Amino acid sequence: MGAGQLGQMLALAGRRLGFEFRFMSPESNAPAGRNSEMIVAEYSNEAALAHFAEGLDVATYEFESIPAEAVRFVAERVPVFPPIVAIETAQDRALEKQCFEKLGIPTAPFVVVSGMNEVRQALEKTGVPAVLKTRVLGYDGKGQAVIRRKDEIANAWVAVKGAPSIVESWVNFSRELSIIGVRGRTGETAFYPLVENYHSEGILRFSLAPAPNVSAELQSLAEDYSRRLMASLDYVGVIALELFQTETGLLANEMAPRVHNTGHWTIEGADTSQFENHLRAIAGLPLGSTEMGGAAGMVNVIGREPDVEKLQSVENVHIHMYGKVPRPKRKLGHITVTGDDLAGVRNSVSQVRNAMSR
Ligand code: AMP
Repeated sequence: MGAGQLGQMLALAGRRLGFEFRFMSPESNAPAGRNSEMIVAEYSNEAALAHFAEGLDVATYEFESIPAEAVRFVAERVPVFPPIVAIETAQDRALEKQCFEKLGIPTAPFVVVSGMNEVRQALEKTGVPAVLKTRVLGYDGKGQAVIRRKDEIANAWVAVKGAPSIVESWVNFSRELSIIGVRGRTGETAFYPLVENYHSEGILRFSLAPAPNVSAELQSLAEDYSRRLMASLDYVGVIALELFQTETGLLANEMAPRVHNTGHWTIEGADTSQFENHLRAIAGLPLGSTEMGGAAGMVNVIGREPDVEKLQSVENVHIHMYGKVPRPKRKLGHITVTGDDLAGVRNSVSQVRNAMSR
């Protein structure tokens, strides 16, 4: 369910395993091609959902904003992984953070709010600066407003259109990390090395894998948080957990119950890509190795087409364009660079970013 670039890359990985795909999405920018079928329909269209589910061995979703009712409708007909509870939790920032809290996974202090007065009260707990984030339908920095001073409350409330939200303390993180984990139908788990991520305007710009200066303790702490999360959700598939590293340790920011942008480097950089491992997990196959040899960097192509010729001059560069119409802030593709070590990869990432800045 869903037919964006994540679905496209899942299908590319799955065709090599001999799988066939059917996609359903209201948009027609589909992963067309051999061994794929596309149903263009709204998720509220039950006839289309029934047609989608017919004859499938297993269904999955590549986008967490798909209405949970649509996923449930399909789950009544065919097995759906990851389980619905995962998409329901990830769709609502309040449920998500309460889930982290319940599992002892540290997060920034937060308060659930549904009115402007509650925002004012919440700031007593969170302090300022704080971030107001809508509970649902916020991603890539959308549906968020920073409150630096108390007189900014009213503007922030307008910015989130008065939607049910959470207020969260501003985190002075030293860096952003993510851990991509995968859990099979038998409960077996595997993890990729922690990834270091660079955002601006709430959008992921580039990632480095493995994240530099990660101790074995830090890696296993991140794995432990991801493992707890997967176990509690009885999870099957790939899950991403986004983390802030701070002076006092790791804080969970959010999770994505799907393959994730910060794992795209695994296509060339790891023994088994996150896409193949997601499919292996949901199909009940043994998981593939998540080992990586050297290092990898991934740069998102955002808003406009890159100069492919310039990019080709970078060593070990792998270009992935998604065939989407350029629009400001839209993810149009990604560029992966691989190398023996992080120093070389950092250098290649700079070259890619320069080639794209024009
Ligand atoms: P999110 O949609 O929650 O992933 O937020 C998008 C980006 O905004 C994050 O990757 C951070 O760079 C930044 N951000 C989100 N929440 C906070 C916070 N509480 N403190 C500081 N930066 C934040």
